[in-house]
Amino acid sequence: MNAKIHDFIYSHEGELKKLLGELVAIPSVMGKPSDNAPFGEEPKNALLYIEKICREMGFSVTNYENAVLCADYSPNGAPIELGILAHLDVVPAEGAGWTTNPFELAEMDGILYGRGVIDDKGPAVAALYALLCVKELGIPLKSGIRLIFGTNEENGSEDLEIYKKHDKFPKNVFTPDGSFPVINIEKGMIRGRFSAAFSDGKILSIDGGKVINAVPDLASAVLQSIPREKLLEAISRDESGVKFTIEQENDNFLVTATGKAAHASTPEGGKNALTALISLINRLTDNDALLGIEKLFPFGETDGNSLGLKCSDGSGALTCVFSRLALSQGSAVGQFDIRFPTCTTLSEVKEKCRKAFSESSFGFETTLEDEPHVVPENSNFVQKLLSVYEKIEGERGYCVAIGGGTYVHNIEGGVAFGAERGDTDYHMHGDNEFVTAQELLKDAVLFAEVIAEVCS
Ligand SMILES: [Zn+2]
Repeated sequence: MNAKIHDFIYSHEGELKKLLGELVAIPSVMGKPSDNAPFGEEPKNALLYIEKICREMGFSVTNYENAVLCADYSPNGAPIELGILAHLDVVPAEGAGWTTNPFELAEMDGILYGRGVIDDKGPAVAALYALLCVKELGIPLKSGIRLIFGTNEENGSEDLEIYKKHDKFPKNVFTPDGSFPVINIEKGMIRGRFSAAFSDGKILSIDGGKVINAVPDLASAVLQSIPREKLLEAISRDESGVKFTIEQENDNFLVTATGKAAHASTPEGGKNALTALISLINRLTDNDALLGIEKLFPFGETDGNSLGLKCSDGSGALTCVFSRLALSQGSAVGQFDIRFPTCTTLSEVKEKCRKAFSESSFGFETTLEDEPHVVPENSNFVQKLLSVYEKIEGERGYCVAIGGGTYVHNIEGGVAFGAERGDTDYHMHGDNEFVTAQELLKDAVLFAEVIAEVCS
C-alpha cells in the first residue's frame, strides 16, 4: 500500500465527514422538475454544492443541465480514461424507525448515520477525496480521471441520458453504488403484462401486488356463493406457508393472503401471496382463465419453468416473479418480472413467453426489455480493480453477477466497485442507513489506489 495515500486520507477524516454532513443535510429526494432543475430543487442544490467544492479543490468542472456534474483532473491535458460515477440524489426518509434525523449526519461509536451515507453520498465523497489525494500528492499520471456526479439514479437514471447528449463516458468506468469486490454481470430483464377476458359467478375480484419488481406479500379476493366450511377447509389444507384470513359480508367473503415480500432479483427468499391465493381459489372453483394463470405461474416456482424459461449459468439462474394481478368482471391483467442470465437472450426469452401465453389464449406484451450487461472478468480494468481490492482489503477479490441493475447498466465497460462489503445490511433505502467511518476512509484509499493503478 502507498503509505502516502493512506496518510493523506486519514489526515483528512474531519474534512471528509464535514463534507458528507453538508451533503446529507440537503434532502436531495426527487422533486418537481422545472426548467433548470430537471429532477427538482433539492437534487440540484446537492449538485451545485458539490460543484462549488470541486471548483475550490481545483478541478475542472462541467455542469450538464443541472443533472450531472463532472470534475476532471488530467495533468498536462492527458486523455481521460477513468470515470468514477456516483449519485447525489437519495430516496425519501419517511418511516418511524429513524432514531436520528435522517438529514443530519450523526456519528455514534464510529458509525455514521444519515440518508445517503452508503447510497451514495458517502462513496461520492470518498471518490472526491481520493481524487484530491492523487492531485495533492502529485502522483504521476499518464491519463486523466473524471468524477461524474449524477442526480437521478433512484428514479430511472435520466441524468445519464442528459450526460450522453453532451459527452461520452471514459473508457473505464466504475460506480461505488453496488458492492465489493466487483459486479461485472447484470442479468437481462423483461417486464411484461398478460391479459385475458374474465367472468365468473363465484370469483368477483382478485387484487394482488403493489409493484412489479417484488414478490407480492399481500393479495386479496372477493368470493361469492362458496360455503364457509369449504373455504375454511381449503385454508386448513393449504401448505404454502402463506397466511389466509377471511371476512364475511352477507354472501361474500373477502379472503386476504399474507406472504413474504422479496426483491424480484432474489425471489427465492419470498412467499408469493398472489400465487398462493390463486391456488387456493382454484381448489374451490373451476375457472379456465384462473386455472391457466396458475399453470403458468404456480406457487413456489421462481425459475420460470412453467413458461419454458428455466435456465442458468455462471451468472446465476433465470428468475421469474408474478408480481401483480388486477382481476374483476370483464378482464384479468397480470404483470411479471423476469431476470435472465447470459446463457439466453432477450429475443429468446420473449419468444418463449409469447408462445406460452398464446397457448393459454392470453394477450402478452412487454413493458420493459433490457439485455444483460457484461464486462469480461479478464479485462485489464477488472483485473486492476480486483488486485487493488486484494492489496488494500487483504481479502480475495472476485467478480459477482447480480439480477438487479446498477448505475452502470447502460454504460459499456462499466462495473460496480463498492461500496457495500460482505453480508452487512447497511439499511440502504431503509431507516437508520449507516456506514462506518473506517469503511468510508478505506473506500477513499481504495479509490485513490485505483486511480494510481489505472491512470499511471
Ligand atoms: Zn444508489
